[in-house]
Amino acid sequence: MRIDIVTLFPEMVEPVLAASMLGRARARGLVDIRVASLRDYAEGRHRVTDDYQFGGGGGMVLKPEPLFAAVEALRTPATRVVLMDPRGRVFTQKVAAELVRERHLILLAGRYEGVDARVHERLADDAISIGDYVLTGGELPALVVTDAVTRLLPGVLGAEGAAERESFASGLLEPPQYTRPEEFRGARVPAVLLSGDHARIARWRRVQALWLTWRERPELLEDAGLTPEERQLVERFKRGETPEELTAPANRERDR
Ligand code: SAM
Repeated sequence: MRIDIVTLFPEMVEPVLAASMLGRARARGLVDIRVASLRDYAEGRHRVTDDYQFGGGGGMVLKPEPLFAAVEALRTPATRVVLMDPRGRVFTQKVAAELVRERHLILLAGRYEGVDARVHERLADDAISIGDYVLTGGELPALVVTDAVTRLLPGVLGAEGAAERESFASGLLEPPQYTRPEEFRGARVPAVLLSGDHARIARWRRVQALWLTWRERPELLEDAGLTPEERQLVERFKRGETPEELTAPANRERDR
């Protein structure tokens, strides 16, 4: 997969792309990520990329010509052009899973008051927002999309990462995770995780994931494909039962 990020500030994105997992994925040839400077595609001696907006109103807007020129130069037969835009569809794990199926993404980072509307209308195939807030530019959103998509590519995550077990992949948030020491400042790792009983551990994790999702992001439960038993568990949370009560061995006997 290839990803091109088009930006006025390459120096903002390059260090992030060089570090850690993204850097390693690039070095291993698992993904080809390139950064294009929008200014290189601007014309004239001053390579101007922005201008005042028609109709008045403060702030500058990115001109269409350099963005069109950049996309035309970078385009391949399999390109999807994505504009980073707070008015776009909201980026989620599902959208990341959709984008990872593309062979080539061009991510356009806006700046100032935004980009000329013709970029949205005539150039971009898609507009993506990373959330309901406004950042100064599209560089961080483009990096967010690049990171989330790249880690879904085969071979990028080690076995430890197993993307299918993570938050959102199953429709639920991920259950709590613990590492050594078994006791830290009086707080003990739940005994079930040390039990070696894989069926009990799996049930504990599922109940915890359900509970966490119900408590923090209840709207996710609607699309999580819950079984009738899981829907019953949610009803019991609503009645005030805790996940600990629901996974205690005595209660599991009672539930049978
Ligand atoms: N005036 C615009 C508005 O109200 O929607 C905001 C422009 S913002 C200051 C400049 C650029 O940052 C945008 O063109 C976009 O590329 C990027 N940006 C800012 N917030 C974003 C978000 N939540 N998601 C995606 N891109 C964002």
